[in-house]
Amino acid sequence: MSTNPDALVVRDHNTLFKGPEYQEQRERKKQFEAGSSPAEVARVAEWTRSWEYREKNFARKDLSVNPLKACQPLGAVLAALGFAGTLPLVHGSQGCTSYFRGHLSRHFKEPVPTVSSSMTEDSAVFGGLNNLIEALGTAVHVYKPDMVAVSTTCMAEVIGDDLQNFIANARTKGAISETIPVPYAHTPSFVGSHVLGYDNMLRGILSYLTEGKKGASNGTVNIVPGFDPYVGNIRELKRLLTVLGVKHVVLGDHSDSLDSPATGEYHMYPGGTPLAVAADSINATATVFLQSFGSKRTREIVGGWAGETVTVNPPIGIGNTDVFVTEIARVAGVGVPDEITAERGRLLDALTDSHAYLHGKRVAIAGDPDFVTGMLGFLLELGMEPIHVLATNGDETWANQTRELLAASPFGRQATVWPGKDGWHLRSLVHTEPVDLIVGSTHLKHLAREANVPLFRAGFPIFDRHHLHRFPIYGYTGGLALLTQLVNLFLDELDRNAPDHSFDIVR
Ligand code: SF4
Repeated sequence: MSTNPDALVVRDHNTLFKGPEYQEQRERKKQFEAGSSPAEVARVAEWTRSWEYREKNFARKDLSVNPLKACQPLGAVLAALGFAGTLPLVHGSQGCTSYFRGHLSRHFKEPVPTVSSSMTEDSAVFGGLNNLIEALGTAVHVYKPDMVAVSTTCMAEVIGDDLQNFIANARTKGAISETIPVPYAHTPSFVGSHVLGYDNMLRGILSYLTEGKKGASNGTVNIVPGFDPYVGNIRELKRLLTVLGVKHVVLGDHSDSLDSPATGEYHMYPGGTPLAVAADSINATATVFLQSFGSKRTREIVGGWAGETVTVNPPIGIGNTDVFVTEIARVAGVGVPDEITAERGRLLDALTDSHAYLHGKRVAIAGDPDFVTGMLGFLLELGMEPIHVLATNGDETWANQTRELLAASPFGRQATVWPGKDGWHLRSLVHTEPVDLIVGSTHLKHLAREANVPLFRAGFPIFDRHHLHRFPIYGYTGGLALLTQLVNLFLDELDRNAPDHSFDIVR
């Protein structure tokens, strides 16, 4: 038993590493590494905030520093979790799969059941056929899923493993039955991002389930959210459609899989779009996509379905939500009830209450392309002025559409749009052309601290704040939640920096 009187004191690492043993160890490490003097480190750090360094940074090729994206199979796992009884299986190494589970768990604060075909060096040489057959057989036997959704990783793609052939082999060899659905998607991580991986897997699942199911119209409106890190968004969409009186189905509903209640019992497959309902989605009246760039591949197959296909911006803010509600009402042939009009009016009212604290604030925003597009709509409505707009996984098409969106507002004229750039590029932008606020993921917290501006955490991933993903940012209700967080962030800053004579009770 320890005789140390502090043995039972649990210290946060903020205080723990101030202890003399850690300070001395740190000093010894510094001496061993024989690094540059603090003055030299400070001089170089300051130079990296200059225009001269910015030009060198933007001339950088073939190297990413802090890319604001994850790899394709991570998105494929999220897509699979949106379907009932579905087990995601990643054909690759255990390390990749641990990363996907860990990344999604840290954001959603939930377990993420996902299995791996455990490829190792020998599979890289001889191919991963046996790994996948064994993985499928074991996964179905042990975890009893209704469907297994298979995606690939870098290693499997580099050696050219053929999933269609491998899955057929697994059936022929009796590892799995002929009947269990096993949709798949090739998700090479060296192209695209988690957004494309989600899209590829959703396409794979819907192609598989809807094959041969074309029949009479079922009078339903399909909603395709795409890669959505907010379970609250999916719930809000379902609520809005219910209030509108529209029969609907969300294709890729992970709201319960990644936000299940604590009941004392563990369920491996809570929630998800029922497979039979997803199979019938081919007979919908219309399919509404909430991501233009994040659903390109899925839209290709839905284009061959009977119903109308509509794509809108993510419904963030008043204008974007107006378009969403109007389009849903149009394709479903219903009117907009007073209840929704009242929600809109409340957001408008709140916005006028708060806009004085937000108007004219300079903003840097980074994230997935559709998220950035949706958020920009809201920021411009608030009179905020986007200065730097960046999406590592955005392309020139996205950039051009974003420039048009910005040019259409008097508050968007100063903005520059940066597709394909990373977090280190954003650092140069923020240091050379300062802003009042950064909007984006947890990966931007170091930049926000260095630049001494608040970070408004939004998008994916958010690891260092809790439960934001459980609340919607979509719809008028989501707009109100966003506005509340945003204005109070500035009011907190105002109070923190206020001199005594301006430390007001009323804001
Ligand atoms: S980038 Fe490739 S190696 Fe890295 S986690 Fe993704 S699939 Fe695995």
